Amino acid sequence: MTDVKELLLSRIRDVADYPQPGVMFKDITPLLADPAAFTALTDALAELAVRNGATKIVGLEARGFILGAPAAVRAGVGFIPVRKAGKLPGATLSQAYDLEYGSAEIEVHAEDLAAGDRVMVIDDVLATGGTAEASLQLIRRAGAEVAGVAVLMELSFLPGRQRLEAVLGGAPLEAL
Ligand code: AMP
Repeated sequence: MTDVKELLLSRIRDVADYPQPGVMFKDITPLLADPAAFTALTDALAELAVRNGATKIVGLEARGFILGAPAAVRAGVGFIPVRKAGKLPGATLSQAYDLEYGSAEIEVHAEDLAAGDRVMVIDDVLATGGTAEASLQLIRRAGAEVAGVAVLMELSFLPGRQRLEAVLGGAPLEAL
């Protein structure tokens, strides 16, 4: 394991049965509080964005904002928030997706993405892949191209990777 990977792993706290019984919550607040770890993560995400030719970074609410925004600044590209429905004030594109029980909806400002953009999606945890898949649909509906998906960690006992690889069209899914 690389030093960076070891550092990042050491700063992720497992919280059992949160927010509900049976869920092992991956808490990244210790990582955010450690400047060496947060800087290493930011640098790694920015490097992925640059390497994959991204012109924009999309961060998924809410922890994708915390990780995606500094990576966008470091990479020298724009940052676009994808938010839960009803939070953005301008004209939006919306995408509904299924949850285990019920459904959810995410939105992006329509004017923030256009043909010619290459977009890297950033979030903290890839679980079922539903949120990330919906964000790819939003990006493509806006006419932009997907440069890839980058997450701090994937829960490999869930089928998120298979689900995303089926719709990424060859673009990379990177889990640090
Ligand atoms: P999914 O759409 O199932 O891939 O879920 C991804 C979203 O839920 C991400 O925005 C994560 O922040 C959050 N999430 C899912 N499972 C966990 C977990 N075990 N620990 C922390 N966050 C999680």
